Amino acid sequence: MYRLTTPIEAVKGIGPKLGAILHERKLDTVKDLLLFLPLRYEDRSQKKTISQLVPNELITVEAEVTSTSNFYKGRRSIQSASVKDATGKLKLMWFNNPHVLARLIRGTQIVISGKLNDRGTMIQPTTEIATADGDTIHTGRLVPIYSHITEFPPATLRRTLKHIIDNLDNLSDPIATQAAKHHLIPLQEALCALHFPDAEEQTIQARERLALEELLAVIHHSQQLKAEWNQLGNAVSFATVPEDIDGKDGFIQHFPFELTGAQLRCAREIFSDLRTTTPMNRLLIGDVGSGKTAVAGMACARVIADGSSAVLVAPTQILVEQHVQTLKKLFPNVPIQIVTAKTKKGELQFDQPSLFVGTHAVLNKLQEIQPALLIYDEQHRFGVMQRSMSQRLTQQPHVLTLSATPIPRTFMLTLFSHLSLSVIDEMPLGRKPVTTWLVPESKRASSYTWIADQLRANQAQAMVVCPFIDPSENEALENVASATERFEQIGKVFAQTNLRVTLLHGRIKKPEQQEITQRLYARDIDVLVTTPIVEVGIDLPAAAIIVIEAAERFGLASLHQLRGRVGRAGQEAFCLLFTSGGASKGNSDANKRLKQFCDIHDGLKLAEMDLQRRGAGNLFGTEQHGFDSLQFANWTNFDLVAKAKLISEEIASSPQAQNWAPFISISAAEKDEIPLAN
Ligand code: ADP
Ligand code: MG
Repeated sequence: MYRLTTPIEAVKGIGPKLGAILHERKLDTVKDLLLFLPLRYEDRSQKKTISQLVPNELITVEAEVTSTSNFYKGRRSIQSASVKDATGKLKLMWFNNPHVLARLIRGTQIVISGKLNDRGTMIQPTTEIATADGDTIHTGRLVPIYSHITEFPPATLRRTLKHIIDNLDNLSDPIATQAAKHHLIPLQEALCALHFPDAEEQTIQARERLALEELLAVIHHSQQLKAEWNQLGNAVSFATVPEDIDGKDGFIQHFPFELTGAQLRCAREIFSDLRTTTPMNRLLIGDVGSGKTAVAGMACARVIADGSSAVLVAPTQILVEQHVQTLKKLFPNVPIQIVTAKTKKGELQFDQPSLFVGTHAVLNKLQEIQPALLIYDEQHRFGVMQRSMSQRLTQQPHVLTLSATPIPRTFMLTLFSHLSLSVIDEMPLGRKPVTTWLVPESKRASSYTWIADQLRANQAQAMVVCPFIDPSENEALENVASATERFEQIGKVFAQTNLRVTLLHGRIKKPEQQEITQRLYARDIDVLVTTPIVEVGIDLPAAAIIVIEAAERFGLASLHQLRGRVGRAGQEAFCLLFTSGGASKGNSDANKRLKQFCDIHDGLKLAEMDLQRRGAGNLFGTEQHGFDSLQFANWTNFDLVAKAKLISEEIASSPQAQNWAPFISISAAEKDEIPLAN
């Protein structure tokens, strides 16, 4: 029997070599493997007899092997097998797959899942040997499809997981009763259904139960942080920071625009924190383009004028440069120093109060900087919110986190009880909603022509966002155009025109990324093909068109954030959504959702709509959502967050409180992985 803590090497079939590969992916124990989520399920559950088969339908038949052969056609080897059942005969065929014949011994009863082609042959079917009890792993059921692990063939992974689940010791499930009360299934059942569900509905129940565990972990973590925060020493209090602020304030009266009411309100909230010695721990939320940087800058300018330093940490180099640009424009008198991984010792000056803007590298300089104010710009990622906690600074800094994720206030109180909240819920005047279209594949070519005309006529830039960098190894994702593929295609299309197209993604070398960014800002590039991760950090005032590929893979809130990247100078802007082949054919639901998105421009509303779609297809997989580090839960799941809150209160007031620990640990990235300086 296996336990959750059993090391993976102790699992039958996993030797030291495979073990090492799994360790690299942080799959160390049986529990880690059980929490390795399927990307999706393929429905191979429809069973028929041979005489009932019709072409192009994914079905499963059980039949007896009558003969096999292996032959060559040119350099290709071809494997074929004949099988029969009581109703007829069937021919199976594979290419370059000699191993497949090993288990197809004449007279063996096998289960076959696949599609008949128009000539009545089944090409590349999946087979397995029939068992006495009729239990199957790869055929005849909803079959889990996992993301690819090198040297761990998908069938072996699936077989290993089945073996683990069939031999798993009874799990302790301390909150089973509370979960049941809220109509959630037991943990053991959830883990089993997650991998080998009998019906799609089960996968949703499984996911819900695990999402509950995850939310409990987040709540637990937040409470711990709050307790720790309360233990911290004092921060600098800034008596020179005014209690109130209006547009005539000396620090901002030269701004080229008027601050919105919401910006002023948030600035006031931050200022009032800065006036006390209790370290601020505040989250500033605002849609992309709502002007968070300006507000953050106001706090920095005050702190620096009062003789202390401030630090602004951004997730990417691109964002660092962008912040510096914005801040220099708004605060010409504030000394700004840039810190990246390449910044050498001696390049920085610590004797004067300054604003240090940098990537995570700047966190290693905190000892020297001794900032009184530390700002994290997370865009819509919640990775490192709490990192400052571990820094052993002489004096605790005030901490402000910026985020573009629209989170309802009640959620904040539950999931992030350790944070105070400020919301910029108003966009700067004059910004027009981005005109959004869902474009059918048939209009792709004419769209490109239209884009080229627009760009030329308006001296504008366009962005094309693809979900992935490379063509996917996952069969689950094979219909999705990757950034590299799309780049090639668009490059060809625009080759006739004089538009300059460039590809930018996270795996391009840093110096090159930087060079591309500079060319973007210098308007030497007209069309940028990229992925959401990089793209989210770019603020191009001239960008007027954004094309989003495989739009069905994104949550609406994420789409909205992407859309917020264009029209930032107040010009008319457009968002063109394309779907990948798979979606437009089979998934009219996705199309309906995207059509709604075209008309709705309220980020919070869209986030709520994300929640309302249920079903395994939406709950699983590669769709982007606000938290990188949450595997199961989605904070837009109002019901479940409410349940998690109730259950966590029940746990806290029960005798088990002392022994209870979260089942799912929220990933290390969510906590703290930055090595301490010194
Ligand atoms: P965010 O970080 O919230 O996405 P930024 O702070 O980068 O937004 O602001 C986006 C752009 O809008 C910047 O160029 C900034 O100078 C400008 N901006 C900020 N506040 C206002 C305002 N109240 N009115 C007009 N423009 C503004
Ligand atoms: Mg920003």
